Amino acid sequence: MGTPKRKRHRIEFIAVGSELLSPHFLETNSLYLAEKLQELGWRLSFKTVVGDNLEELKEAVGLARQRSWLILISGGLGPTEDDRTRQAVAEVLGARLVFNQAILEKIRQRFESRGLRMTPSNRRQAYVIEGAEVLDNPHGTAPGLWLESRKEVIILLPGPPSELKPMVENLVLPRLKKYGQVRVLRASLRITGAGESFIEDRIKPVYKDLPENLQLITLASPADIQIRLEMTVGSQPEKDEKTFERIKNRIIRRLGPLVYSVEGRSLEEVVGQKLKAAGLKLACAESCSGGLLANRLTNVPGSSDYFLEGLVTYSNQSKMRELGVPEELLAAKGAVSEEVARVMAENMREKSGADLALSTTGIAGPGGGTPAKPVGLVYTALAFPGGSLVIRNLFRGNREQIKFQATQKALDMLRLKLIEMEKKTQLK
Ligand code: ATP
Repeated sequence: MGTPKRKRHRIEFIAVGSELLSPHFLETNSLYLAEKLQELGWRLSFKTVVGDNLEELKEAVGLARQRSWLILISGGLGPTEDDRTRQAVAEVLGARLVFNQAILEKIRQRFESRGLRMTPSNRRQAYVIEGAEVLDNPHGTAPGLWLESRKEVIILLPGPPSELKPMVENLVLPRLKKYGQVRVLRASLRITGAGESFIEDRIKPVYKDLPENLQLITLASPADIQIRLEMTVGSQPEKDEKTFERIKNRIIRRLGPLVYSVEGRSLEEVVGQKLKAAGLKLACAESCSGGLLANRLTNVPGSSDYFLEGLVTYSNQSKMRELGVPEELLAAKGAVSEEVARVMAENMREKSGADLALSTTGIAGPGGGTPAKPVGLVYTALAFPGGSLVIRNLFRGNREQIKFQATQKALDMLRLKLIEMEKKTQLK
């Protein structure tokens, strides 16, 4: 992705606030800004979080000025002593802080309209950096500031996301557009069924001849990998579009059925669409995934068209009572076994009247593992017209990750079966 061509071509964000450095607070303004900059085809090169300390703040701003042409700063514009952003930026620029009566009036009116009296400390917020334009803040007392010179643009924004977002949307983005929007081609390939290193290995040959304006970003989490392709369109848009399609299709071909979506959709959405198109109904019986499978399936709008029911049969009693799993089988093989997974899926299918049924049974940990049946051992099963299929999986990770991987595997078994069924009907 690109940014307007400049000597210092980078864009940088500084989040100000000591609370953002504590273990209790998540810094989110940078995520929002990165997303908004993407709309212009721009991307952030750096982000810094700095506390309410004047010297450290000045250091961060000074460094940003050495390397970035656009510097967005949020927070520290409040009325209290520890709100130092204005002062720090003014000192770094060698500019004065000047009092602005109009801002003070706005703050006063804001207080009065709520039947409150302005505090003397709010006066601080009426000081602006010399030469700055004021960005109105209808959602709070601290206005934003826009400083522009031939070399750079520095934008001071309020910290609270409820104040920052409307200011960025209404005042900042429209003004930034004049620096040149860049068209970006994007694709998001979603992949499951193989690890990150296997995927990397498969697509390595594609990496070799990537043009400079195309970026490949891999986001990997257990059982779910996303490859994002982003290409800045240059002076030859048609050529770029062709190159983009060629590279995208090459990756898709090399990964084959491991790619479950080329449009960034979730696995449950993909499976749901296939079930709907084929007019097939689904049910599930879950043990170790504890309802996550049914939850994911029903997160998709319109899932009632194909999803009939889901049971969480967590105990042996429940597996016997609800699914008719034989007591002897549980005693002989254990609840976490290929045989029990298969009976769960088959009986669920029969009992519900669905065309297809999924089941999960396993050990999500952290306790409960044995050498023969370690934590992470999960059987996923699928019952379909004319048969059933069980896969023995050994997942790694914490309890939540193991539960997620169990549902991902179950959904993927279903996806592959549906593709097979689609092919058969096409052949007929
Ligand atoms: P105001 O005076 O309107 O509060 P301010 O610019 O002084 O504005 P801060 O005091 O720095 O803002 O931050 C106020 C609150 O906004 C923080 O306590 C936090 O809840 C939220 N906030 C600030 N910065 C961020 C950030 N980068 N990401 C997420 N939340 C933030």
